[in-house]
Amino acid sequence: MDIVNNKRSADLFSKAQNTIPGGVNSPVRAFKSVGGTPLFIKSAKGAYITDEDNKSYLELINSWGPMILGHAHPAILEAVQGAVNNSLSFGAPTSKEIDIAELICSMVPSIEKVRMVNSGTEATMSAIRVARGFTGKDKFIKIEGCYHGHGDAFLIAAGSGAVTMGVPNSPGVTEGTAKDTLLAPYNDVDKIEQLISENKDEIAALIIEPVPGNMGLVLPTNDYLKKLREICTREGIILIFDEVMTGFRLAKGGAQEVFDVIPDMTTLGKIIGGGMPVGAYGGKAELMDYVAPAGPVYQAGTLSGNPVAMAAGLAMLHHLNDNPSVYTDLAAKGKKLVTGIQAALDRKNLPYKVTLLGSMVCLFFTDKEVNNFADAQTTNTEKFGKFFHAMLDNGVYLPPSQYESWFMSQALTDENLDEIIAAVNASLDSIE
Ligand code: PLP
Repeated sequence: MDIVNNKRSADLFSKAQNTIPGGVNSPVRAFKSVGGTPLFIKSAKGAYITDEDNKSYLELINSWGPMILGHAHPAILEAVQGAVNNSLSFGAPTSKEIDIAELICSMVPSIEKVRMVNSGTEATMSAIRVARGFTGKDKFIKIEGCYHGHGDAFLIAAGSGAVTMGVPNSPGVTEGTAKDTLLAPYNDVDKIEQLISENKDEIAALIIEPVPGNMGLVLPTNDYLKKLREICTREGIILIFDEVMTGFRLAKGGAQEVFDVIPDMTTLGKIIGGGMPVGAYGGKAELMDYVAPAGPVYQAGTLSGNPVAMAAGLAMLHHLNDNPSVYTDLAAKGKKLVTGIQAALDRKNLPYKVTLLGSMVCLFFTDKEVNNFADAQTTNTEKFGKFFHAMLDNGVYLPPSQYESWFMSQALTDENLDEIIAAVNASLDSIE
């Protein structure tokens, strides 16, 4: 990318390296796998994001998912502005926490009780702890290429930034921790059965992104999720759906509603905070009553249930709950975008694979059907990098990694989608 045209971002990135590791507070933001200078962002509104050099882009990151209604949505801003007038944090219970818990329990089929935390990582770490505490077993099954945040036990064959950075097994994660994480490929029931027979009565939980978005977007095949449900019920293994990405995005009840498979526990993040730092984990009451102070499994947080974050989350969830047309509208936008991308690929006779579910989209630079992490890794990441920069030059800001889903927002108009499709055509022309 032309550094001169992004002078202020380039200057800021250089300055940031002095005091922030790699210049960013989360690795994928550094554009490491696509090269070039990350854009430093000044503001965003609706479907557009504006950088420090005053250039605006149509964007398909949406803060990695939370901004499903587009940036600076008035209902959410108003709720936050109202909440800050009452101070920023109390460290004591508030009525808003009951309101959001009731709303989540009514929207997400598997959740009877819920605990609010501050991030998706906290949610998944806590859910595994509850599963282990409840069952008295140590091991759990994780799916290769799924990302569940940066908790030690999950940084084994992890997707998202971990694979982007080439450190699927991070230094600092001990062998002792890693040995309790058992791995199976996505969409492979036989491997799950094998792990269960090799570790009879030792497995507390199976955690999965029901629709992974952290190895790019990959879809479940052949009743995979239903089969996992049957196996976990049969074996007394706690099935945890990590719906940090898919929760409130694929439907108001998440992937579990779409596929009609009800896990024992669900982890949430991103949309649930409306753009504020929020996560949550919930599930059957008998499991959640194992959490302190109701039960023996300890988990706490100084800022958990923060009133400003709860106000943003409540406004977001109310909007989604009261306007089911958001999801049909987003699905129509997804379909339009993917039809346009497929037409662009067909025009150039390119075999690349596009995946879509609702408003989650991905374009893999491979001719292989992508059903798991190994398939996803056949993608040509160098080509993706070129495509990414060509799209940026054409005014569209995609996630700066092949191993991420694109997230659409409701703010994208038909005209915006035509612009993005035109950018895809122009970008493919310039790189192919
Ligand atoms: N789980 C999934 C499925 C995610 O996609 C992510 C983040 O992208 C996380 C957990 C971790 O969430 P956070 O980054 O809020 O800690």
